[in-house]
Amino acid sequence: MSQKITAIRGFNDILPVPTKDNPIVTGLCQEVEATLQDLMRAYGYQEIRLPIVESTPLFKRAIGEVTDIVEKEMYSFLDRSEESLTLRPEGTAGCVRACLEHGLTYNQTQRLWYTGPMFRYERPQKGRYRQFHQFGVETFGMTGPDIDAELILMTARLWQQLGLTQVVRLELNTLGESAERADFRAALVAYLEQHKDKLDADSQRRLASNPLRILDSKSPETQAVLADAPRLGDFLGEETQAHFAALRAALDGAGVAYTVNPRLVRGLDYYNKTVFEWVTSELGAQGTVCAGGRYDGLVEQLGGQRTPAVGFAIGLERLLLLHIAVHGQAEASEADVFVAAVGEGTAIPALLLAERLRDALPDLRVLVNCGGGSFKSQFKKADKSGARFALVLGQDEVAAGTVSVKWLREEREQLALAQQDVATFLKENHTL
Ligand code: ATP
Ligand code: MG
Repeated sequence: MSQKITAIRGFNDILPVPTKDNPIVTGLCQEVEATLQDLMRAYGYQEIRLPIVESTPLFKRAIGEVTDIVEKEMYSFLDRSEESLTLRPEGTAGCVRACLEHGLTYNQTQRLWYTGPMFRYERPQKGRYRQFHQFGVETFGMTGPDIDAELILMTARLWQQLGLTQVVRLELNTLGESAERADFRAALVAYLEQHKDKLDADSQRRLASNPLRILDSKSPETQAVLADAPRLGDFLGEETQAHFAALRAALDGAGVAYTVNPRLVRGLDYYNKTVFEWVTSELGAQGTVCAGGRYDGLVEQLGGQRTPAVGFAIGLERLLLLHIAVHGQAEASEADVFVAAVGEGTAIPALLLAERLRDALPDLRVLVNCGGGSFKSQFKKADKSGARFALVLGQDEVAAGTVSVKWLREEREQLALAQQDVATFLKENHTL
């Protein structure tokens, strides 16, 4: 026998049922996606669908050459005409590219959302995969803190709707404008140079390339050095501070709790002013479920006119894992009604009965036993399907134009009905 081909490491199948490496099931994905779509409708956001592959320079320019993503995480390759292409590692760059290409940000505001797979070459572990999915929101053309607040309130409403408010907390920071950050960066580098020997290796390297990311370091020694480092807050001008204060006032007014985390810098280069993360303690090391911020410079950086912008992305796998951790695995239910066909000549009548039921009750989920089998084996399938009723068609029922109705979840008397009365019976006895 030839060797089995399996999925690539870090690339998951998502099945209707949990597997040993993936508790996430498609039913839950659909439920959460539906909640997200309704949420977008409620806030007046529109969907944008973007290519999964973009030209490599787009990401280098947008995300920044000295970020984790561009330095070591991108899936880049030459296509057959030697063009360097990249599987998108995130959605913002492509969204800005598309808006510019189609003039969507020209003299108008936009509120957009997208969802789909993203690709990063990382070490796979719980909550970290090489193909993962994001749900992202990007807005353009709005300068003030009101839109920053809208995005955060929208995410707070989502946790509410998913029953997750108790297990997530909001961390907030402001990164100021690039001139303010430049002054801070200089002061930070001057300070850290004096303590270089106490920094972890990654941080020593970043001292030259991307010193702000050092604030993010997980090393306790580095964090000890950082305790007395200059603070970005001391370098921020009036405008930045007023923006941040107004955002905080909006969150206070809405009753959304947060902590200001001066160490929150985010992994991508394009942010300014507001940055935020929703984090949880339920998922171990991969605790950031949603991350976002303002990126007023990116549109210009990609060749457009200066356009204020703010957005966020939710890591869907982490959100779904959190949902399962909090609410458990939902009972799978495939159908409301299971139609069993027992004996020669009953299969097609069963199929046609199911069609008539779907005509009469479009919301009813009807699963037909195809492929024959004994009464016992069909009954087992009926039970496993999660259906509330089994409709049994034997040869006698077909001849008489009747059907036996069994309650599968309740201790109730089985009954025989004329086939044309089944829809009415279900309508009266089953709330859809
Ligand atoms: P992390 O610090 O966990 O690496 P990040 O800063 O690289 O996250 P972002 O680029 O901000 O992540 O992406 C937004 C969200 O997408 C993250 O908060 C997370 O929920 C999710 N995410 C990022 N990378 C992965 C991955 N490799 N696997 C699964 N989810 C991911
Ligand atoms: Mg990362």
